[in-house]
Amino acid sequence: LEEQIRSLQTSTPRKYRKVKYLNYKNRKRILITGGAGFVGSHLVDDLMVQGHEVIVVDNFFTGRKRNVEHWLGHENFELIHHDIVNPLFIEIDEIYHLASPASPPHYMYNPVKTIKTNTMGTINVLGLAKRVMAKVLIASTSEVYGDPTVHPQPETYWGHVNPIGPRACYDEGKRVSETLSYAYAKQEKVQVRVARIFNTYGPRMHMNDGRVVSNFILQALRNETITVYGNGKQTRSFQYVSDLVDGMIALMGSNFTQPVNLGNPVEQTIGEFAEIIKQLVGGPSVIKQTKAMEDDPQRRKPDITRARQYLQWEPKVPLETGLQRTISYFRNELARSDRFQES
Ligand code: NAD
Ligand code: UDP
Ligand code: UDP
Repeated sequence: LEEQIRSLQTSTPRKYRKVKYLNYKNRKRILITGGAGFVGSHLVDDLMVQGHEVIVVDNFFTGRKRNVEHWLGHENFELIHHDIVNPLFIEIDEIYHLASPASPPHYMYNPVKTIKTNTMGTINVLGLAKRVMAKVLIASTSEVYGDPTVHPQPETYWGHVNPIGPRACYDEGKRVSETLSYAYAKQEKVQVRVARIFNTYGPRMHMNDGRVVSNFILQALRNETITVYGNGKQTRSFQYVSDLVDGMIALMGSNFTQPVNLGNPVEQTIGEFAEIIKQLVGGPSVIKQTKAMEDDPQRRKPDITRARQYLQWEPKVPLETGLQRTISYFRNELARSDRFQES
């Protein structure tokens, strides 16, 4: 034991990414619920590098300590294991509320919990914001538009959601989350920002979350069949995670209080997307059509006029660049899990 203590005392201090120094007037205490998840962990990185104090609250349902481990022990960083369905009492200046399962298999796994997280969890976040007078940004979704009858989707479109279908726990949960935000804004003067996020991808996505980007890349890397659900004519528009994080920070900093779409307007059919991934990864995988998903939105593309006008924001990372980075992340993850299995 003595030897262990001595080695701890003499070991070199941890090296962190360089963070800016902010004086106390400009430095904020920022809470990120769901900050150990895919998007949240990238937001943590940017806000830490900007010099803020960042507090992550996560129940690790789909998030992982590994996503933020590079900040553990840093004086500006705190990680709290907590389920946002329960009240939370801390002192902060801003809240990014991201806690919620996000991929269809994850949110369908326990629909009741998904609804609780997006209703009771959001009430707790707004109650906290009200008490400490913090500004809140809610991570909403393009799913509030459901299977849209208007294309592309502007924020003024009210949506076309099946309230009792398999996706309802998430879609309606997020719609209530938005309704709650504007009710607290009106009644309690809480400052709210609402980001309607469209399909986002990048490193730290879960390998097995069943979303199309991770499924197709893994299938191609493992030389397995690439599974297109249905005829592959349905469309999506994919945004790289760093663009989303830039948009969220810009929205939080703006005076604009109405919902804002954050997404990349370049649209693909899922069939074309399978071809793109197959080509970028290489290898012999075959693309095959399988059973269609119930209530699968048939077309999705953001109208980002608002974000351009009020945030001076638009996506910068081209699909191919973003996909190359994501593919190399998954390649490393696969090699890592192979090493684990060997040892
Ligand atoms: P993710 O699953 O990686 O992250 C969600 C995080 O929330 C995880 O760390 C999870 O453990 C945590 N969480 C879930 N329930 C919780 C609870 N009850 N209490 C505390 N923590 C909880 O997903 P993501 O892709 O990073 O999504 C982040 C947010 O952005 C979500 O709110 C999601 O709905 C929204 N969003 C994401 C996308 C996308 O394409 N990634 C699109 C639209 C909206
Ligand atoms: N809440 C919280 N942290 C706080 C303040 C409130 O988690 O710092 C929770 C609180 O437990 C309540 C919810 O937020 O369930 C809504 O708070 P609000 O003040 O709006 O409602 P009330 O407490 O009056 O029911
Ligand atoms: N999809 C697919 N094969 C898969 C996973 C998904 O064809 O292995 C399709 C799915 O039916 C949908 C699109 O890809 O039309 C996007 O699905 P994802 O689950 O990534 O996100 P969504 O936008 O539906 O929430």
